[in-house]
Amino acid sequence: MNQSGNQCSRQGDKQTQWIREVHKETVCLGFKVEKLLFSGQSPFQKIEIIKTAGHGKMLLNDGIVMLSEKDEFIYHEMIAHVPLFVHPAPRRVLIIGGGDGGTAREVLKHETVERVVMVEIDQMVVDACREHIPSVSGALEDPRLELVFGDGVEYVKNSDETFDVALIDSTDPIGPATPLFDSVFYKNTADRLAEDGIMITQSESPFYDTEIQLSMFKNQRPHFKKLHIYLFSTLTYPGGLWSFGFASKKQCPARDLDEKRVHASRIKTRYYNAQIHRAAFALPEFTRENLAGIVDPVPAG
Ligand code: SAM
Repeated sequence: MNQSGNQCSRQGDKQTQWIREVHKETVCLGFKVEKLLFSGQSPFQKIEIIKTAGHGKMLLNDGIVMLSEKDEFIYHEMIAHVPLFVHPAPRRVLIIGGGDGGTAREVLKHETVERVVMVEIDQMVVDACREHIPSVSGALEDPRLELVFGDGVEYVKNSDETFDVALIDSTDPIGPATPLFDSVFYKNTADRLAEDGIMITQSESPFYDTEIQLSMFKNQRPHFKKLHIYLFSTLTYPGGLWSFGFASKKQCPARDLDEKRVHASRIKTRYYNAQIHRAAFALPEFTRENLAGIVDPVPAG
């Protein structure tokens, strides 16, 4: 997702409808619309699901593209499998946000996972995705999953449960998601993690969102021994390259990647594999420079 002017304008002649997302008032992404499947206003955001001509079904929150069926597998595989193949025995997973169900779908492919708690503030997102995008939300019926409708900020503050992995699958730092990027939330999340716990955070665009990245990683730094960033491709976010933060108390995403487990798991993926995992932590110079001294370099190999 991205901070956008979120002018979601529909233009074109009556036959051809386009949905447009303006980002930072300087770049615009457009997707050809075939049909509007759902539009609703929740207490938190406007939610739309459209059938596009070239990207399958698409979820937008406040006019900002959250996912498309064409490329959502990349984001959801990378947020889930990177930590779950590094943690030695991931059994208990916390998801904050993730209302479309894509992250939960990938987490639940791991047979070692016994319990997933997903805390989503907006029930309308879940209901709309359950009805209109079952390819993404289908795993929400898994008996291992507990779905909590509430604020992730409050959940990590008040819960006394311990998790092995926490995945912060949030919208941009706007509205209810804003406190998901601050130090108090990260400290409370760190307190929810076991001593070998890992937290992954949606950390925006390496091209357009350097200030957000600097701020969120500075907020994470005091609470995690290891702090890295990794990159992945995307068709539907501005700039075509996006990032996740990898914060852990102990694990190194390269040294502790268990490639044997990746192969033995026989989990079907379309983007993630052990080579992509390692390559994702190899950073371009501009990102290394932007975050020098804040995030740690990952040892090669
Ligand atoms: N997984 C999608 C993707 O591919 O990028 C997008 C993530 S999901 C749609 C983001 C979710 O975070 C939204 O459904 C939003 O309602 C939720 N959210 C925002 N602030 C939250 C908070 N404070 N607590 C829990 N959920 C929150």
